[in-house]
Amino acid sequence: MFTLVKLYEFPNNIHSLLELGVPIAFFVLQERLNIMNMDMLAMFFGGGGGFMGYFIFVIPTIILAMWAQSKVSSAYNKYVRVPSRGGITGAEAAAAVMRNAGISDVKIVQVRGHLTDHYDPIGKKLALSEENYRGTSLAALGVAAHEAGHAVQHKVGYAALKVRMALVPITNISTRVLPIVMIGSFFLIGGALSVTLLKLGILCYVVLTVFQLITLPVEFDASARAKKELVSLGILGSDEMVGVSRTLNAAALTYVAAFVSSLSYLLYLLSMFGGRND
Ligand SMILES: [Zn+2]
Repeated sequence: MFTLVKLYEFPNNIHSLLELGVPIAFFVLQERLNIMNMDMLAMFFGGGGGFMGYFIFVIPTIILAMWAQSKVSSAYNKYVRVPSRGGITGAEAAAAVMRNAGISDVKIVQVRGHLTDHYDPIGKKLALSEENYRGTSLAALGVAAHEAGHAVQHKVGYAALKVRMALVPITNISTRVLPIVMIGSFFLIGGALSVTLLKLGILCYVVLTVFQLITLPVEFDASARAKKELVSLGILGSDEMVGVSRTLNAAALTYVAAFVSSLSYLLYLLSMFGGRND
C-alpha cells in the first residue's frame, strides 16, 4: 500500500493509486493523532490540516489522478486495437529509433504484465510488455518509441534525465521512511515527537514532489522524440499519429497528476504544520 517509486516505467498505472494510499493512510493516522490530542474543534474548523485541509488539498487530486488513469486506459485500449499500416512491431520500432540515434548497447527484452514497459538506464535494457513488443498497433508503436526515446535521452546526456537518475537514491529512502513516519505517528502520540514526525513527513514529500517534477520534462521529451522519429523513419504515416499522440498525451497526464498529488499533499502537511497548536 505504500508508495513505490516506479523508476523508469511508462505509463505507471498503479503508481498514482499507490501514491493515493499513502495520503489516505497518513490522513487517517493524523486524524487519530488529532483526536488523541483533543483537537476535535481545531480539526474541523481550525486553520490548516484536518478535514478542511484534506478536502481542499487532497480530494481534488484524487479525482484528478483517477480521471488521468481512466483517460490513459481508454486511449490505450482504443489504439491498441488499431493496427499500423506498416505492420512493424513495437520491438522493431524501438530498435529502429535507437539505431537511428547510434545506440547499439541497449537490449530490447519482452517483460510480463500490462503496460510494464520501461527503460532501465543502469542495466541498459529496454523492456516492452508482450502487447507492445509483438504488437503492431498505434498504441504499441507509441509506447515502444517512447521507451526508445528514454534510451536516446540517456545516450545524449539529456539533463533532466541525469537529475532524475541522481534523485533516485534519496527518493527511494523517502518512500521507505514514509511508512515509518506513518506508523510512528500512530504509536507515538503527542507533543514534540509528533511534530518531529510531521517534519520528517514534510521532508519526504518535498523529495517526492521534486522527483515527480523532474519526471515531467523527462516524460514529455521522450514522447516528443517518439512522435518525431516514428514519422521521420517512415514507421507511421502522419495521419496515424493521432492515435499515437492521444495515447502518449494521456500517459503524460498521469505524470502531471502524480506531481500534483505529491504537491497537494505536501501543502496539506505544511498547512497541518502551520495550523498545529502546541
Ligand atoms: Zn517514460
